[in-house]
Amino acid sequence: MAEMSKSKMFLGGEWVTPLTGDYFESHNPYTGKPWLMVGRGGEEDANRAVEAAKKAFHNPEWRDLTPTARGHLLRKLGDLITENAEALAKVEVRDNGKLFAEMHLQLRYAPQWYYYFGGLADKIEGSVIPIEKPETFTYTLHEPLGVCVAIIPWNSPLLLVSFKLAPALAAGNTVIIKPSEFTSASALEFVKLVEKAGFPKGVVNVVTGYGKEVGEALITHPDVAKVAFTGGSASGRHVYARAAESLKKVSLELGGKSPNIVFDDCNIDNAVKGAISGIFAATGQTCVAGSRLLIQESIHDEFVDKLVTFAKTAKMGDPMSEDTHVGPVTTYPQFEKVLGYLEVAREEGVNCVLGGDKATRPECGEGWFVEPTIYTNVQNSMRIAQEEIFGPVLSVIPFKDEDEAIEIGNDVVFGLAAGIWTQSIRRAIELSKRLQAGTVWVNMYRAISYSTPFGGYKQSGLGRENGQEAIREYMQTKTVWLSTSEEVPNPFVMR
Ligand code: NAD
Repeated sequence: MAEMSKSKMFLGGEWVTPLTGDYFESHNPYTGKPWLMVGRGGEEDANRAVEAAKKAFHNPEWRDLTPTARGHLLRKLGDLITENAEALAKVEVRDNGKLFAEMHLQLRYAPQWYYYFGGLADKIEGSVIPIEKPETFTYTLHEPLGVCVAIIPWNSPLLLVSFKLAPALAAGNTVIIKPSEFTSASALEFVKLVEKAGFPKGVVNVVTGYGKEVGEALITHPDVAKVAFTGGSASGRHVYARAAESLKKVSLELGGKSPNIVFDDCNIDNAVKGAISGIFAATGQTCVAGSRLLIQESIHDEFVDKLVTFAKTAKMGDPMSEDTHVGPVTTYPQFEKVLGYLEVAREEGVNCVLGGDKATRPECGEGWFVEPTIYTNVQNSMRIAQEEIFGPVLSVIPFKDEDEAIEIGNDVVFGLAAGIWTQSIRRAIELSKRLQAGTVWVNMYRAISYSTPFGGYKQSGLGRENGQEAIREYMQTKTVWLSTSEEVPNPFVMR
């Protein structure tokens, strides 16, 4: 077998090998085989990344660039993503197992983050404050934070890089991207475009390696101002605690166990499609997965029949094929974790109406595939209804009325998203208020936009990405006081 290529890291505008000299394998989840050796960065690599990003932050080439000029650079990067979409998509499919069709859509959309935040860069205005003190002029400036570390999970690497990078750069920060150890390749491919767009050296850096090694060194480094983390709740809690030691600003986008709630007055065919996309799109590996399907008792059996019939049409197999609907699980540990939950479901005694096992269809080959799985008869207190599985596994829970739907819907530690299917405008508006979730979709599911705030209630996170408020997560406010008086008063005389 030909020797696998070894990836480099991008630090201070240079492609460098890890100082540790170590590498680990990155796998193709469709074949189950390794295809790339990824640099295993360590503390020294984290240190030189921070040094490069700090130097770039103070470099007049970046510091003195006007917000309008920053916006131009971001828009250029957006254009380059469009021009290189196919190459980026192929890397992501190979390394992550995402469907090519999904990547095609994502990469048509991703440039919008750079256009939107590029446009916002020169629209962040300070204010002149009508202060009560005579002969005094006060105003505010909104300034960047400094070196920001973007920690990315494996499930949607390129899109989640954009959620963080676009507002951070628009605000004038410098950024170190730390992709997941399972899916580093697309960030490395992407940063070539940052280089091509003409960002000064060190403004964007990519270090690869494990969370506990290079990641930990980044989040505890005294010269890092902010950590923007997306990932699991356990890691998120740890990152928050470690970053707090040096009082860094932290934003967290964590997991979910989102309720997708179907009322008997809904358009059933639409709701079936919404339930399917809520759990089987991206093989259920999305933080907003509608993994708890709450169905009103009066339509429960009819709905489940239609749901199972539709889900059975899902084709599995090669993620590059346009016909494939459900791809592999991205990582082997995640594959084992999902299979573990299928075991938990068996022990909890629920009724399996679809799937319930690993996929052995010939088209799945040696890949890490799990059959689309639907359980009925689930109680909300069960582990499969409380814990994030992050796979194509749906728990169906019946409910009687609105109050019970809200009670069950909110009865988890998470609060990322929720869906409501109803024809009643009163119900849609009133229940949207009562659901503890950062996003509520009515008669639709799983939509996101660069222009709408996204984030979690409760243990699903801190802070918001996307939309105008996202840029504030990467800025701090300075108040400037000016005296217009001819004379400084005598400090011993109180006025
Ligand atoms: P993970 O928490 O294992 O890893 C996420 C990232 O954190 C990786 O880059 C990892 O290397 C890094 N990391 C782990 N420990 C670290 C440490 N001590 N210091 C610094 N970095 C560390 O998560 P994952 O398995 O890659 O991703 C899946 C999880 O991400 C799911 O729980 C999912 O819900 C969540 N997610 C949330 C959102 C959201 O926007 N809310 C979006 C996508 C995924």
